[in-house]
Amino acid sequence: MAEQFDVVVIGAGPAGYHAAIRAAQLGLKTACIDAALGKDGKPALGGTCLRVGCIPSKALLDSSRQYWNMGHLFGDHGISFKDARMDVGTMIGRKDKIVKQFTGGIEMLFKANKIKPFFGFGTLHKGNLVKVKQHDGSEVELTGTNVIIAAGSDSIELPFAKFDGDTIVDNVGALDFTEVPKRLAVIGAGVIGLELGSVWSRLGSEVVILEAMPEFLAAADAEVAKTAAREFKKQGLDIRLGAKVSKTDISGKGKKKEVVVSYTDGKGEQSLTVDKLLVAVGRRAATKGLLADDVGVKINDRGQIEVDEHCHTGVDGVWAVGDCVRGPMLAHKGFEEGIAVAELIAGLPGHVNFDTIPWVIYTEPEIAWVGKTEQQLKDEGVPYKAGSFPFAAVGRAVAMAEPAGFVKVLAHAETDLVLGLHLVGVNVSELVHEGVLTMEFKGSADDLARICHAHPTLSEAIHDAAMAVSKRAIHKAN
Ligand SMILES: Cc1cc2nc3c(=O)[nH]c(=O)nc-3n(C[C@H](O)[C@H](O)[C@H](O)COP(=O)(O)OP(=O)(O)OC[C@H]3O[C@@H](n4cnc5c(N)ncnc54)[C@H](O)[C@@H]3O)c2cc1C
Repeated sequence: MAEQFDVVVIGAGPAGYHAAIRAAQLGLKTACIDAALGKDGKPALGGTCLRVGCIPSKALLDSSRQYWNMGHLFGDHGISFKDARMDVGTMIGRKDKIVKQFTGGIEMLFKANKIKPFFGFGTLHKGNLVKVKQHDGSEVELTGTNVIIAAGSDSIELPFAKFDGDTIVDNVGALDFTEVPKRLAVIGAGVIGLELGSVWSRLGSEVVILEAMPEFLAAADAEVAKTAAREFKKQGLDIRLGAKVSKTDISGKGKKKEVVVSYTDGKGEQSLTVDKLLVAVGRRAATKGLLADDVGVKINDRGQIEVDEHCHTGVDGVWAVGDCVRGPMLAHKGFEEGIAVAELIAGLPGHVNFDTIPWVIYTEPEIAWVGKTEQQLKDEGVPYKAGSFPFAAVGRAVAMAEPAGFVKVLAHAETDLVLGLHLVGVNVSELVHEGVLTMEFKGSADDLARICHAHPTLSEAIHDAAMAVSKRAIHKAN
């Protein structure tokens, strides 16, 4: 006899655990199923984000940044040292401890909210029946008045560069190298490739990033992408655009193992020999084995679960959220969808504003944006004004010895409503939310310009950029 719940969530990643906790807060009897195991072989909640994504990558970015700063920034402050060394084992151990703290934290939150966890693989059958194959081989059956699918995504594997968990890896392997690879190639100059490429480059790897597209960071504002590319080059990241990889060959054994990566670019056939290869060409919705044939949930041509704007699949009581559906593959997009669906189930007006989802790339300098780029506004024929301001003219940024980058505010030419905020520079992952808030509250560039910003802070760049929209920036010529 199946155990009955008001809500059964499949997947305890950012989208799933937010859905489960909000549903439980709203008084719904909730179960959440997750198949993942941690490095210690024990069940670990929190999904890609907490186990092998957002959090561990930021832990390594922070460790590697401290190390990099020692060699490249400390001297400016008059700090010198002898024999600086990076102990990779300690760095990875620190990352693992953080992961354990946060995955364990989700288990505690489930307990506190009386959510029943099930550890195993769930398959949805007709009539909202979920069969869970648990790690000990036993099976349990659950039914949910509502089922929320939050199965997330897996790395895309290239047929000519199969993951072997050692020489050719995805994010999971690249977060766990036991030593700094002397030579590292990355296929894909997207967020994951740039972040993990930066980690190992800062620690001393010679990193080459091969990107098939001719344009660098096409989704970002073109000037932001140009500035970022210039800074990455200064740091030694070798980013090769229009480079299409066609073949990889592993040779050698043990410490002598290497991989030859063959690719073509504008100049013809090329090859590159490296010690490790990270494939970071994107992620695909994790739907394998998730849906029994008779369920009726549709998969679109990109392999994602089809949903409407409220994340409903069209099958009675079946919803889907997070990376397994359309929209950006970002943890916070999943958070919002999970909450919205739980609220809709409880009869509340759940809603996600896709126009104000911030994007961040945690490189050095960081890249962040919300809203439209200039190119998008041009393509859509929207009249706009732009104001920008460099961090090199911001006292706090210069005092921190972090003058790279700038802020750009885009506003409607007639209404002055803020349509986009684009940033590249130190800590802009935190600053982008000024744009999110302004856009959520339908604020104008003039509103931003008239809001008092503390001095000296990095946020003053946004203040001056907003003032520059109407050519009244104080700290630069207009
Ligand atoms: C290296 C890296 C860095 C990233 N950094 C960031 C970042 O800085 N910021 C950001 O916003 N995003 C980042 N992301 C993306 C982010 O991790 C994802 O967008 C987010 O985790 C998606 O959440 P989700 O809940 O939809 O899916 P997931 O986090 O993938 O979770 C899905 C869970 O469901 C489980 N599951 C799947 N199918 C089943 C089943 N049938 N039965 C039981 N359990 C199942 C999986 O085991 C998994 O635990 C990063 C990703 C990577 C790989």
